[in-house]
Amino acid sequence: MSLVDVRDLTVDFGGLRAVDALSFRLDEGGALALVGESGSGKSTVAAALLGLHHGTGARLSGSVEVAGVDVGAAGERELRRLRGGLAAMVFQDPLSSLDPYYAVGAQIAEVYRVHHKADRRAARARAVEVLDRVGIPDAARRARSRPHEFSGGMRQRALIAMALACEPRLLVADEPTTALDVTVQAQILDLLHQLRQETGLGLLLVTHDVGVAAESADEILVMREGRAVERGPIREVLSTPRETYTRELLRSVP
Ligand code: ADP
Ligand code: MG
Repeated sequence: MSLVDVRDLTVDFGGLRAVDALSFRLDEGGALALVGESGSGKSTVAAALLGLHHGTGARLSGSVEVAGVDVGAAGERELRRLRGGLAAMVFQDPLSSLDPYYAVGAQIAEVYRVHHKADRRAARARAVEVLDRVGIPDAARRARSRPHEFSGGMRQRALIAMALACEPRLLVADEPTTALDVTVQAQILDLLHQLRQETGLGLLLVTHDVGVAAESADEILVMREGRAVERGPIREVLSTPRETYTRELLRSVP
């Protein structure tokens, strides 16, 4: 069984078709990059995997299955199960996901309390452990810092730690390194790679940057205006793109 199985996904926002009959699969432990220009529908797909369009005005058709959960048909309970332990998401801007008023460690501890029923003390200890694991130096002390006291790269690490606290089988990362400078970007990509090797985590990476995709994924799906233009093993597609659009996209990379 695939970790992710998307079939004929179409997403409409009013009169705008953001995703158009898109199908793809991701195997357990695999890494797929969704690549395309801004506005090509990548984030819309990422959000669909976690059921984030539920209750919004978006109209979806087709099917989305993640870790055996039929996301389109899932009710609140099923969605909580999905987000609580099967799939987690990391965004471009960690500040949009971290609460500015609470210590980072406390926010992660809360995940352990809610999703893993850890008691307060154990939750705190596990939060420090996971911060340490993603490379936050002096994690026990830094756990007490609030998000704004972290650098951009450390904040992204903290957000990855929060996602890992759910012990997900799938990590959906939407432009996780776009806001970071090149050196820090490479460190975060290394971290994702290392975590995949250690945990067997599946990765769906959304990026407009072909270079980032090449660093992090095994397979690529090139999107344009909501549709799949080209797909395949990433080295193959990057070395011998079949479609003109993919060639243009590659040319735009410095
Ligand atoms: P990408 O992540 O590739 O930049 P998006 O998935 O964010 O693209 O957006 C695809 C298209 O859908 C864009 O035209 C965008 O403006 C539109 N869109 C995205 N989210 C919404 C929304 N919530 N309401 C209306 N239009 C949206
Ligand atoms: Mg996007």
